[in-house]
Amino acid sequence: MTSTISRFDATLAPCGHQHDGERCVAEDDQGLVTEQVTFSCGCRTAREEFHDGSVHHLVVNHKHKVLVDEEFRGE
Ligand SMILES: [Zn+2]
Repeated sequence: MTSTISRFDATLAPCGHQHDGERCVAEDDQGLVTEQVTFSCGCRTAREEFHDGSVHHLVVNHKHKVLVDEEFRGE
């Protein structure tokens, strides 16, 4: 499992404002990637890959409101 944390400059957060933040990308032994983005205001997004090829996408704003919670089926 390797993970990389990087900071990014102000960009559009889920709440609609510009905020900087931190991105954490983790990759497991099979190459499945989990990406978590945390904005300085508290908004966050996550994208997670699963072994069956499906992808889970989650977007939560800084008021803890879930804006997106969906799963895409793989082939
Ligand atoms: Zn926000």
